[in-house]
Amino acid sequence: MSFDVTAIRDQFPILKREIDGKPLVYLDNAATTQKPQCVIDALVEYYTTSNSNVHRGAHRLADEATRCFEAARDTVKEFINAPKREEVIWTTGTTESINIVAHGLETLLSPGDEIIATGMDHHANLVTWQQACKASGAVLKTVPVTDDGELDQVAYEALLNEKTKFVAFPQVSNALGTINPVKAMTKKAKEFGALVLVDGAQGAAHGWADVQEIGCDFYVFSGHKLYGPMGIGVLWGRESVLEDWPVWRTGGEMISTVTLQESTWNVLPYRFEAGTPNVADAIALGEAIRWFSSLDHDSVVAHEKALLDHATKLAKEFDGLTIVGNAKEKIGVLSFVLDQGHPADIGFLLDRQGIAVRTGDHCAQPLMARFNVPGTARASFAIYNTLEEVDALFVALKKVRSMLA
Ligand code: PMP
Repeated sequence: MSFDVTAIRDQFPILKREIDGKPLVYLDNAATTQKPQCVIDALVEYYTTSNSNVHRGAHRLADEATRCFEAARDTVKEFINAPKREEVIWTTGTTESINIVAHGLETLLSPGDEIIATGMDHHANLVTWQQACKASGAVLKTVPVTDDGELDQVAYEALLNEKTKFVAFPQVSNALGTINPVKAMTKKAKEFGALVLVDGAQGAAHGWADVQEIGCDFYVFSGHKLYGPMGIGVLWGRESVLEDWPVWRTGGEMISTVTLQESTWNVLPYRFEAGTPNVADAIALGEAIRWFSSLDHDSVVAHEKALLDHATKLAKEFDGLTIVGNAKEKIGVLSFVLDQGHPADIGFLLDRQGIAVRTGDHCAQPLMARFNVPGTARASFAIYNTLEEVDALFVALKKVRSMLA
């Protein structure tokens, strides 16, 4: 199937925007993707026609809202190939999903147990485990990152042992774009009986969210990086693990029976969904996934690879530019520094030319320290970006370089 980037772009109204009279070149997709019209329409449609609280209403709107909300859960189930819909828990995003797991984990660990995370994790998938270790007396070990920006697999294997109870790693690094061998890493952790959490915040956005194929116990992601709305995300957990997992927030919906002194808990997934859920955004995320899944996956991957290859070629020819992260397997992320200036200045001067990139530590301070940089400028590509936009980035960067020189 051919990939018509113009037809894709036409579905994203924001891409028609101008910044100070210049066409917007949006290259900050690892932070959040833009939303196609069908996702925006799904939100408006829900609030226009069916807004109601779910599960407990005795009227038509409540029925409709509940049906659409639960249908969106089914869409997620299919998308991540979860064995059961009950394993799909709505959260506010990756960060909350990880915190739910950590909150339970800290009560299950004993002093001396070990958790493994990595030197390339987003703070959401590192600080959380630091806290879980502090609360439980467990010890945090981290997998080092190689000069190319890959996880050191030899060191990883050496860290695993009988004391390893939990392992967490990113499917894809948001800061460098590195695609990690999550299936193989999961398999190795399983040889020691450890539970495995895969941070799919960046991986799910590329359609690599098959939890049965990966073999992990928890898979987490955010809707807003997957062409869906902000404020909605997913915690997938294996039923056999989740059903014994300590409850998280308490309140309505997550209970089965309540007396003045005691309560019992609802079944999955509601056990972890206290309070009124984010119905509209869940429905719109379902729409985003349907939209994304309707595209030919191989063509999407090939298009993003072409963008990365072109950007990498131009970056290598660009005097004074150093790419941070040269992994063999990468998504469309180009993280770089310029000899001439601080990343924050690069971001500011690119913005003046209509080009949106992210600068800073990308919520990965240990990774920045590993590469001895204060931060990087990061251009991250999505399916609606074009080769011409990559060219525009480098034309603009030339101006930045001369301004900073
Ligand atoms: N992990 C990774 C790899 C990410 O890229 C992000 C978002 N930048 C997060 C976790 C946190 O996601 P959120 O802010 O949507 O909770």
